[in-house]
Amino acid sequence: MNPNPELVAQNKQFEKQVIELAPNVYGAIGFAASNVYMLVGEDGLVIIDTTETTKAAENIKAEFRKITDKPVKTIIYTHSHRDHISGATVFAEGGSPDVIASDNFDSDLVEVDNKHPKPGKALMARTKRQFGMSLSWPDERVSVGVGPGDRPMEGMGAGFIAPTVSMTETRTNVTLCGFELELVKAPGETPDHLVVWLADKQILFCGDNFYSSFPMLYAIRGTAYRDFNAWADSLDTLLAFKAAILASGHTMPVIGADKVQQVLTDYRDAINHVVAETVAGMNKQLGPDELAHTVSLPPELASKPYLKEFYGKVAWSVRAYFAGTLGWFDGNPTNLAKLSPKQCAERTIRMAGGVDKLLSEAQQAANDNDHQWVLELCDHLIAAGEQLAQAKTLKVAALRALADFEINAAGRNYYLLSARELEESIA
Ligand SMILES: [Zn+2]
Repeated sequence: MNPNPELVAQNKQFEKQVIELAPNVYGAIGFAASNVYMLVGEDGLVIIDTTETTKAAENIKAEFRKITDKPVKTIIYTHSHRDHISGATVFAEGGSPDVIASDNFDSDLVEVDNKHPKPGKALMARTKRQFGMSLSWPDERVSVGVGPGDRPMEGMGAGFIAPTVSMTETRTNVTLCGFELELVKAPGETPDHLVVWLADKQILFCGDNFYSSFPMLYAIRGTAYRDFNAWADSLDTLLAFKAAILASGHTMPVIGADKVQQVLTDYRDAINHVVAETVAGMNKQLGPDELAHTVSLPPELASKPYLKEFYGKVAWSVRAYFAGTLGWFDGNPTNLAKLSPKQCAERTIRMAGGVDKLLSEAQQAANDNDHQWVLELCDHLIAAGEQLAQAKTLKVAALRALADFEINAAGRNYYLLSARELEESIA
């Protein structure tokens, strides 16, 4: 394995450490996929987010207990993703702190609908691939893009406490443990985002509405449409605070008022640019396959380290925007009733001159390092059920080659775990 060096270098964004952002304000970085923040108040603690596992939460709590022995009075969830809500019981320590979230908090840990079928198994399989669960660290799983590759897995999802206080207003001022905080609804990576403004110290806890990577506007584990425009508009909301410190849900906090304004402005502009270019292409009747290959960030944005595609990816975002606004149909009537993969494969193999000819083309493409073409040729053989062992072996090698090129951790992990699964299917 020879992973993309830029992806490896991104690991400095989540080296394990507790940092003091200001007197009585601490952040635990790199212990889990996500960050945890602690405000040490007069009579107790406010904890912002709680990681994805009870084990990671225990490790962080042990660090925090070196600083203070005050009880946790309040936990705030910035949003409902499991990497922010799953260690709450650890911080509660058997007590019953208030747990604050937005009133549209919608945990993906909670099965809310037992009446209708859900693709839960597919989602689980794809989630494992995106995060590279069971891949080896550090050779295979370099990171998860915005968090470390060697986080603990024990107690995944196990320490969730349902919110006890729901924020109904767009903006709410609260005093918690002596801290005057403003809680502001700011839909972004999720619709239920709640950001926390500590005016006294000019610190903005922004959840996942900013982290040091191009934003995850679509996650390949399988996510519903994320509202691009709402996220961009929320970045304007964040900009208006003129924060001195941006304490993000993942990656290192951003320190310095000018730097904070710069990263938030660029983040907003990047989302708006992707929307504008995609819409322009859609209005020219281009489909998602074409747009995924043509829409890109302008060089001045693409070169920013916090807009590199370590976690989100422009091409996936373009497809998500298309699907989220015009739906699955690309507008080309050919695709209203496409041949099945097997029907297409059988005809393509015949046109190529037979199975052996297609297989030798795939082998030649592999020799030419034309890895994506290897995948597409091998998929025809696999769909047709022809030369399965050779086709799968070639596909496995191509997936592993693509993984090493990939700057995107989710993409790398997905390629590598899929390669292993395919390899195991070769009888
Ligand atoms: Zn997160």
